[in-house]
Amino acid sequence: MRINKYIASCGVASRRKAEEIILDRRVKVNGEIVTELSFNIDENKDVVEIDEKLISLSENYVYIVLNKPEGYITTVKDQFDRPSVLDLVTDIKERVYPIGRLDYETSGLLILTNDGDLTYKLTHPKHEVDKTYVALVKGHPTYEELKNFRDGLEIEDYKTAPAKIRVVDVNEEKNYSKCEIKIHEGRNRQVRKMCKAINHPVLRLRRVAMGDIKLRGLKIGEYRHLTKEEVEYLK
Ligand code: URA
Repeated sequence: MRINKYIASCGVASRRKAEEIILDRRVKVNGEIVTELSFNIDENKDVVEIDEKLISLSENYVYIVLNKPEGYITTVKDQFDRPSVLDLVTDIKERVYPIGRLDYETSGLLILTNDGDLTYKLTHPKHEVDKTYVALVKGHPTYEELKNFRDGLEIEDYKTAPAKIRVVDVNEEKNYSKCEIKIHEGRNRQVRKMCKAINHPVLRLRRVAMGDIKLRGLKIGEYRHLTKEEVEYLK
């Protein structure tokens, strides 16, 4: 199917608007930018993204939650040929794709779906679902540093929104602290940058919840389908 027709059929834009989006270099097919209007999409195979967000024709929506191991990328592929989380979801015949990103070194909760609308909604900056992380950070944050973290920090060219952080455990001997962190923004490496900004760099990072969605006993590398209630909750 021609790419502009495909985009229109996904309900994202009219065919003419789709052409503009393609020419603006906002469309990727299997991770590569496509600018040719004559490009043909294989609906059964190709992964199509607009502005890094999956779009999909499928009526048969699938929603899964994966406990991502460290050492996996959350994109389809990268230049280093590192393993992708998509290699872990082996018995799902629909083409699912992660909602948002976790760093290569981060583990924990990742939702995957072929529902482009939900992906769009949950990755929109205005979306207020808290993401909960457990971070091991170097040293022991002081009251003042925690306050700065909570109030919002200047990072590169932006100020972070108010966030939550509490120290849940301290290891004096090994000089690290375990913190629970909740943020609703989803900028690139944001938790790592925020911890670094208060001089307590992250040693390990794990996401444990997105709003009310939890791993519920999934072991590392395992996944499960979201319940109907969980899907309704996210929508
Ligand atoms: N913040 C980070 O720094 N890394 C992640 O993987 C997720 C949030």
